[in-house]
Amino acid sequence: MRYNYCMGTLSIVSTPIGNLADITIRAIKTLFSVDIIACEDTRRTGMLLQELKKRYGSIALHSNILSTQKLVRFDDRQEQSQTPLLIEYLQQGKNVALVSDAGTPLISDPGYKLVSEALKRGIQVVSIPGPTAAIAALTSSGLPTNQFLFLGYPPEKEKHRFDLFQSLLTMKPSNHPTIIFYCAPHKLHQILTDMQTVMGDIPIVIARELTKVHEEVWRGKSSEALQKFENPQGEFVILLSINSV
Ligand code: SAM
Repeated sequence: MRYNYCMGTLSIVSTPIGNLADITIRAIKTLFSVDIIACEDTRRTGMLLQELKKRYGSIALHSNILSTQKLVRFDDRQEQSQTPLLIEYLQQGKNVALVSDAGTPLISDPGYKLVSEALKRGIQVVSIPGPTAAIAALTSSGLPTNQFLFLGYPPEKEKHRFDLFQSLLTMKPSNHPTIIFYCAPHKLHQILTDMQTVMGDIPIVIARELTKVHEEVWRGKSSEALQKFENPQGEFVILLSINSV
């Protein structure tokens, strides 16, 4: 791929999933130096920038890069309509950073279409890596890490969920990665109940509120999880290893 260096660069910038101190120096420098920041929620990202300026503004000042960024809304609904606008900015030579509300953009968050459209046009895309809940959960789960399968949120439709859980059980024994799901708190009971129906009362790991004050990595059977998280609150990642089923 040959990049056109007259165009701007699209930086995919990871931001903290709960603990602001997890921001990287490179993320700070990028956010303070780009022309445009595309974000899911301009208010939330505006507050993040204010806090970063307060705490780490000296990093930007020393690098002489404290510019004024324009925030452009880029959420699930607007990804389709805003992509051409952001591509236009990049083609005009403006540098654009993409952030999501938390963690790594494109990971169960918008951005795939923008990245693929940018690459088609020879625009340079760089990733500024950082926190992502799936990896934080995996590495603290105690489950095998040599292979893992991140499946995002389980399907909305019951039949699709059942089919997916069934297909995990029938994977070849040589191909048993640790499975990682994201889960909204109000869906936790339904997902655990469906898992139990299809897979039995299997051992699972639930990582909750990672990097936050009430961080918890819980291990037990799905039936126990239903009792333990009777009133689920916060953000959840569910992990399981088919080897232990
Ligand atoms: N892009 C993000 C990332 O890199 O992890 C994920 C965004 S997705 C819309 C939000 C989901 O990620 C939540 O519903 C939850 O499953 C998971 N998540 C995000 N932050 C978390 C945290 N601090 N602890 C546990 N899970 C978290």
